[in-house]
Amino acid sequence: MNHLQEQLRELPQISVLLADDQVAELARGRRQAWVTRLVQDVVEGIRRELQQECGPVRPRAELTASALSRIRERSQALLRPAWTRVINGTGVVVHTNLGRSLLPPSAVEAAAIVAAANSDLEFDLESGTRGHRGRRVEEKAALLAGAADALVVNNNAAALWLAVRFLASGGPVLLSRGEVVAIGGSFRLHEILAETGCRLVEVGTTNRTSLDDYASALEPGATVLKVHRSNFTMTGFTEEVALGDLAALCGSHGANLVYDAGSGALFPFAELGLPTGETELFEDVAAGPDLVTCSGDKLLGGCQAGIIFGSGERISGLRRHPMRRAFRVDKVTLAALDSVLTAYLAADDRPDLPTLSLLAQSEAELEARATDLLVALQPHAPRKWRGQVVPSQASVGGGSFSSAVVPTRLVLWQGPKEALDACHLALRTGDPALVGRMNQEGLAVDMRTILPHEEPLVVAAFRRAWGKP
Ligand SMILES: *Cc1c(COP(=O)(O)O)cnc(C)c1O
Repeated sequence: MNHLQEQLRELPQISVLLADDQVAELARGRRQAWVTRLVQDVVEGIRRELQQECGPVRPRAELTASALSRIRERSQALLRPAWTRVINGTGVVVHTNLGRSLLPPSAVEAAAIVAAANSDLEFDLESGTRGHRGRRVEEKAALLAGAADALVVNNNAAALWLAVRFLASGGPVLLSRGEVVAIGGSFRLHEILAETGCRLVEVGTTNRTSLDDYASALEPGATVLKVHRSNFTMTGFTEEVALGDLAALCGSHGANLVYDAGSGALFPFAELGLPTGETELFEDVAAGPDLVTCSGDKLLGGCQAGIIFGSGERISGLRRHPMRRAFRVDKVTLAALDSVLTAYLAADDRPDLPTLSLLAQSEAELEARATDLLVALQPHAPRKWRGQVVPSQASVGGGSFSSAVVPTRLVLWQGPKEALDACHLALRTGDPALVGRMNQEGLAVDMRTILPHEEPLVVAAFRRAWGKP
């Protein structure tokens, strides 16, 4: 018998593991099916590992103990929520990996009510007959963006797909070579366009696309797509065509224009001291494209959704599109989005939405909050660690204001490198987790992205990480 065969003979049997007291307790009743699967998976995982190993034969008792501990860990993980609450200390305000914009309490409440109770989602209470799903939410969105009508779908990727598919219906889609973008890990524009069944016609060059480039490729009935460069900037020898000029060109050639605005700003962010460059939705709509699309959970400050704006006729056409059903949003989403849009309608200035509040904080406020946090943390810090408040730069993130940085304050910790790494790991794996910023200078948390009510949680997280809960 060779070494591997000898080793594999030591693998514990499934039935033996299932007979273990704790596993048997876990596998009671209807849980038996999934627990058995889990046990099989664990043993299979160990088998694969043993096939890679070549050390001395590991005895059955050791492998059994290892299997039981894995079964315990994985079953405990399965019985917990699949996500962990995270405090965002990264300085990226709209952080896609951490769930983008946060909803205000009013939207959370609205979503909770609709989730747990029946509602007139698709029902007309007056006539007692079927109503239009989402219509009142869409009316609010259209009004805010200055559009005739709007349609809410699952996200901006779906909005874009539907808009192009509907207007181009298999024909050519002109896109500047400077706008064949990728956003995040899975949004590659040319791949999404390929799935619309339309023919992508790239115009211009990577750095320069002129009105003539579009004009010479235009044919009646063609569709032009313009995509906001959300997550990168181009500098140097560059040229792009303004949305309004492109709309005029398309109008005179009988061509359609779709504009992917990306972020969906419903507030003049320049007023918060943010650099211009991100237009507001009403400006995009006013520039005259046939359809404008945006995300609901970026600068708009709502939940995951895509909104398409356009004329009554175009949006009615989209509503009747067979794929619209596949992209439609859940009632919980509609309720949350409705609440956020209502906040915009109700506010005579900046609506009280977390994304906007985080961006609106002044440097003086951030400085004061950082100082308070430092004072609260300092007594618990390990000896040899030095904490200080330092100015730095945060970013908007989420494909908005790609090049723009916003001033911020960090609570920065300096100390032995390994200890800093260990602390950041402990912070990230705590509950709630805290994700900070680690660089050559040390371990920092960025006040720009931490909500004031989260500060006690930050203190508790550091105390746990420092072993002083
Ligand atoms: C973010 C973004 C998208 C993707 O939006 P989702 O809502 O995440 O689907 C598409 N286009 C642009 C320009 C974006 O900035």
